[in-house]
Amino acid sequence: MKAIQITNATLEYKTQNGIVRALDNVSFNVEEGEFIALLGHNGSGKSTLAKILNGLLIPRLGDVEIFGVNTKDTAKIFEIRSNIGMVFQNPDNQMIASIVEDDIAFGPENLGIPREEIIERVNWALEKVGMSEHKKSTPFKMSGGQKQRIAIAGILAIKPRIIVFDESTAMLDPQGRNEVLQVAKQLNKEDNITIIWITHYMDEAVDSDRIAIMTDSRIVAIDTPKEIFKRTDLIEQAGLDLPLPLAIANQLKANGIELQDNILTEQQLKEELCKILK
Ligand code: ADP
Ligand code: MG
Repeated sequence: MKAIQITNATLEYKTQNGIVRALDNVSFNVEEGEFIALLGHNGSGKSTLAKILNGLLIPRLGDVEIFGVNTKDTAKIFEIRSNIGMVFQNPDNQMIASIVEDDIAFGPENLGIPREEIIERVNWALEKVGMSEHKKSTPFKMSGGQKQRIAIAGILAIKPRIIVFDESTAMLDPQGRNEVLQVAKQLNKEDNITIIWITHYMDEAVDSDRIAIMTDSRIVAIDTPKEIFKRTDLIEQAGLDLPLPLAIANQLKANGIELQDNILTEQQLKEELCKILK
């Protein structure tokens, strides 16, 4: 069964200056267990796409199904919301309680989960994000990366099958970015949680299963990183940068240095350079 099935979704916002179309006939399917990176410049419609997934917004035209349940089915919105967790950009806006374990327990408490199971879930979620020793701490003094991991634990405690990260690393330093990305990758691999990873950092997208590119309220391409990054014209049109190792490799190739194709990561570039410099 498809985790996410979006069919011909169109959505507009009404503003004082008129109507803004944020999604223009978007179709997009995701299999359970996929790690999808969603890339696009500011205002291309990524956050709006995220918000139609859990029924926060309903498209004017078209349909959104989460594990076969249509978000228009108001009787099932609870089921949809417990299947999809969202991690947002600002970690400070996602904290509810002043003690980590209470913060994480908040979601399952609202679902009416029995006390004993809540305790189990809190411990499990903290372990998953590598924050077990901070169970009794207060989140307010933590680093951005730690706060985001607490936010992720709070979502995990609801046991969702899909997690959407909407630029969840944008406010973090490089170490925090890496911590959060690694947690997402690990949840995908170990727990088969479907991940939608929204970002404008190209290096965060290179080892996802597929990359979707949004431009002007549309998805203009969905393919493997290897195929997507062959299409430099498309990346440029979308207002995005190539991953730095690929940009360097392309530049070297343009200057007559023979390198293999498909260099996307720093590691691959290092290995190739070592080979030719020997
Ligand atoms: P992204 O996340 O890629 O930056 P958004 O989905 O936030 O894009 O925005 C898509 C378009 O919709 C933009 O033109 C933006 O200005 C507009 N938009 C987003 N949210 C609202 C809103 N609440 N009211 C009016 N316009 C909005
Ligand atoms: Mg956004």
